[in-house]
Amino acid sequence: MNFVRAMKELGITVIDRRNIAPFSNPKRSVNQVTHLGIHHTGVSVDQPSERLEHYWRTAHGWGTGGYHVYIRRTSQVEWNYQPDQITNGVGNHNHYVFHISVAGNGSFTSRQNEVLVAVIQYWCRNLNIPPHRVLGHREFRGHESNSCPGRDMQALRRLIQTAGQNHSEQSITHITESSRQQQAVNQVKQYEERGTFYPSTTINIRSAPSVTSDIVGQYVRGEHVHYDRVQVDPIDGYVWISWIGASGKRRWMVIRERKNGQTQPMWGYIQ
Ligand SMILES: [Zn+2]
Repeated sequence: MNFVRAMKELGITVIDRRNIAPFSNPKRSVNQVTHLGIHHTGVSVDQPSERLEHYWRTAHGWGTGGYHVYIRRTSQVEWNYQPDQITNGVGNHNHYVFHISVAGNGSFTSRQNEVLVAVIQYWCRNLNIPPHRVLGHREFRGHESNSCPGRDMQALRRLIQTAGQNHSEQSITHITESSRQQQAVNQVKQYEERGTFYPSTTINIRSAPSVTSDIVGQYVRGEHVHYDRVQVDPIDGYVWISWIGASGKRRWMVIRERKNGQTQPMWGYIQ
């Protein structure tokens, strides 16, 4: 089954970027792919693939990105490359590796971890790769000093192996069950509240309460905005304020982050 459809059945959204992601590396035949390489971005903020690609292009001059599949902080999956495309994940090893990365710096949401297991299981089956050939970045020879992928690979491999021993149907059910329970507990909260927010830094104005929505402007230090609605994301995410903009359209802005259910310091103050 196609990756997008297989993930959709598990309640996982995949953005197909295969026609968008820059690619200038050579190609290979799919049966040359013998390993999965697991990564993290090494930064705690959520970044779209375009942002990473821009960085790689400007800092390293790369015409090709690093990861075939990338799991955002939002748990949304970006599918950047086909297995027959060689990407820049682990120097000197790329010709036989399919790269999967998770947005974060050694700390991931439980939903990201669930999605990672589902993604790994799919590609292990699809590319016929056994769990012992699923390696973290620093497990490839010559990369031992790297902190990537910021997780316990032994534990991850045990998890894949256990899940793989059950019938795939069972492991799929298990993953959707637990994510459904988690979703029930961690609903997004939205409520009416009026106030005035004074940003202490530049903050993007967005068309929806999601960091993947369109940026329609910015508020800078010294300005203020009257808001009439608040959204609090579950466990990991943001606190959003909202108002009707001059255009007549509802606008959204992040005023603080949430990590592990804890609200972080505000990016300004409210009066
Ligand atoms: Zn890495």
